[in-house]
Amino acid sequence: MKITKILPNINKYVDKSTPCYYPDETAHQGLVVPEIILNYGKLRKQIREIPSVVPLLVKTINQSKKSYSQLCEQPKNSKKTISQKQLDNFSKYAKSLGIFHVGFTKVEPSMIFKGKKILYQNAIILLMEMKREKIELAPSFETGHEIFVTYYKLGLAVNKLTEYLKGLQYKAQAGPALGGDVNYPLLAQKAGLGLIGKHGLLITPAYGPSLRIAAIYTEIENLPSTNLNEHEWIADFCEQCLQCVKKCPVHAIYGKTKVFSDGSKEHIDYKKCAIPFSNNNRCTICIKECLFFTENYHKIKDNYLK
Ligand code: SF4
Ligand code: SF4
Repeated sequence: MKITKILPNINKYVDKSTPCYYPDETAHQGLVVPEIILNYGKLRKQIREIPSVVPLLVKTINQSKKSYSQLCEQPKNSKKTISQKQLDNFSKYAKSLGIFHVGFTKVEPSMIFKGKKILYQNAIILLMEMKREKIELAPSFETGHEIFVTYYKLGLAVNKLTEYLKGLQYKAQAGPALGGDVNYPLLAQKAGLGLIGKHGLLITPAYGPSLRIAAIYTEIENLPSTNLNEHEWIADFCEQCLQCVKKCPVHAIYGKTKVFSDGSKEHIDYKKCAIPFSNNNRCTICIKECLFFTENYHKIKDNYLK
């Protein structure tokens, strides 16, 4: 079954005449979590989680549908510059919805997934924590459930925050929490919110890799974007650590990250990962075992840079 046919897709909602930003020739194919589970999962392994996960998944897909179906409803006489006070209020509202960090950057064409597009190039990145006590139990029913709860809450938050910006007369597009059109870890890394670790996940000071990411694309031109990333030291740290590489039950994480001729990277063998991910409550061992989850970011940094 091709679940991509029933998942909401921007191409169904935005016609070809609408000006958009498109991927370039170096762009990669996006992975779709429900499709991975459907293709690699065995029904008998998922029996316990189906009654709780399916309703969450349906609600999350409905939020994604909402993100796309509201794309055409943009404010007339829109504005392109935002005041610091409005931005502060936006961040406060985001926090009240469970977002622990907001970042800003511009989307590069190479970050847009093949066959996808976005309406605006300026991005607001939203990070939401996955609860520590649930991730510590990985792999478990509780951990798998937490992942889907976070997708749902983040999908809800990204839609509410997009409507908030539209209410202030800014054009905005919600990037869904599940099945987005852009590579979110790369986007968050470009915004300086953290660094992509050996396991291919964004590592942040606040919660290590225990998080999910979504984005809002907007016409606002004066977002406080940065080109600085104070977390670059993590790349060298990972080369010496390799804990996730050793702990992955199917050796899906490359000890030597693949680097393509265009500079893009592949951290894990997705086909290998898909089996425990789909059949053992989303696995998540690489998050649970990451040094940035088990220990404090600043303590690791201080010790390492000594
Ligand atoms: S989710 Fe599990 S199988 Fe996949 S990379 Fe992480 S540890 Fe390996
Ligand atoms: S476990 Fe170690 S090597 Fe893997 S991402 Fe975390 S810090 Fe990097």
